Amino acid sequence: MKSLKENFQKAHIVIIGSGIIGKFNASELSELGFQITIIDSTQLQNSSNAALGLLMGNMYQKRRGRSWDLRKQSIELWPQWITLLKKFNYELNIEKPLIQLTTNDEKFKKLEKFIYENNDQNLQILKKDSIFIKYINKAFQTKNIKGMISFQDGRINALSLLQTLDKYLKHKKVNYLQGEIIKIRKSNGQWISTTRNNENIKSDMVILCNSLKAIDLIDSLSHNIKLKPVLGQAMEIEINDAEVDLLSLPKHFNINGKNIIPKSKNKLIIGSTDEFSTMPEENTFEKLTNFIDKKPNWLMQGKISKKWFGIRSRPDGEASPIMKNLEDGLIICTGFYKNGILLAPACSKWVAEKIKNYLN
Ligand SMILES: Cc1cc2nc3c(=O)[nH]c(=O)nc-3n(C[C@H](O)[C@H](O)[C@H](O)COP(=O)(O)OP(=O)(O)OC[C@H]3O[C@@H](n4cnc5c(N)ncnc54)[C@H](O)[C@@H]3O)c2cc1C
Repeated sequence: MKSLKENFQKAHIVIIGSGIIGKFNASELSELGFQITIIDSTQLQNSSNAALGLLMGNMYQKRRGRSWDLRKQSIELWPQWITLLKKFNYELNIEKPLIQLTTNDEKFKKLEKFIYENNDQNLQILKKDSIFIKYINKAFQTKNIKGMISFQDGRINALSLLQTLDKYLKHKKVNYLQGEIIKIRKSNGQWISTTRNNENIKSDMVILCNSLKAIDLIDSLSHNIKLKPVLGQAMEIEINDAEVDLLSLPKHFNINGKNIIPKSKNKLIIGSTDEFSTMPEENTFEKLTNFIDKKPNWLMQGKISKKWFGIRSRPDGEASPIMKNLEDGLIICTGFYKNGILLAPACSKWVAEKIKNYLN
């Protein structure tokens, strides 16, 4: 029997989908010495390019179960990835901390209870007298915002991360193929992925990282997997009020579920919404600014300077994400409707372990 190392070097793995999940899987597996081909049709229009890059791991309030385990593992793995990827982009960083705020007293009590019960030094309650809260209350002309700060969570620039992974994958000689896979099948122990142009790509294994479209490639009779599209929207707003300096606010924070990233003195990004839809609606501004009851004038009068959206896939009838060994040599790693950026390191580690076991 061949050694594991020999198998690794010989095995050819096709990854379908080049969003953050496909790229992370390719990175993890190329580190192990496999031959990788990553195939995507239109990688610039995927949901990964739309992401705001907030990494909400440690502030997750359910400290048990699969979702927490994946977050916990990702929190541990991210610093290792940053060290590795910095060789390809020294500016790549996770900017910490992250602040989560609410105007709802019940939700705030839950936050207090969560921090009290977990006794985690990396989390702290932010009350009205905190300097962060003072600036936020002043800018949003409110009195009732409060929340928590997480010193271990933060934000990575998603676009910069994707570009850095591309550089890393090029360095690792990962093969990139532009094309849409319309069919996969197994023949004589090998997987054959067929492109729309009728090109056949042979491999020992296939990993489906192509979000919603993954279900088109699997046998629905053998695998009961359902995915629903979830729209995520974001916009950049330009304000015109000399009294307000958006840079006085924290670098990134979340109020009542909306993520806010000040970009300059008079520009900020707000995202994202979750709707079962595939097309953005006209009232993006209204939807994304409904995080406080009474909007300050500078926000009401703000102008959208950019807006964008991404379609994510949400598993229907099971927890997100879907990570399964479907058949010998066929793995699915998809259904990341939220937190795909955060969870990518832990999920690609899971895939790598399955592949090691398969080849062993
Ligand atoms: C506005 C917005 C903000 C977000 N903010 C955050 C955030 O702050 N933090 C966070 O962690 N997450 C965030 N997310 C979620 C995150 O973006 C997703 O969870 C993540 O991008 C999912 O990545 P993916 O690789 O599974 O999918 P995608 O990025 O959608 O990639 C799937 C790829 O598969 C390709 N593909 C599909 N079918 C085929 C086929 N047949 N053949 C070849 N290729 C195919 C597509 O072209 C695409 O490139 C946000 C999402 C949105 C939309």
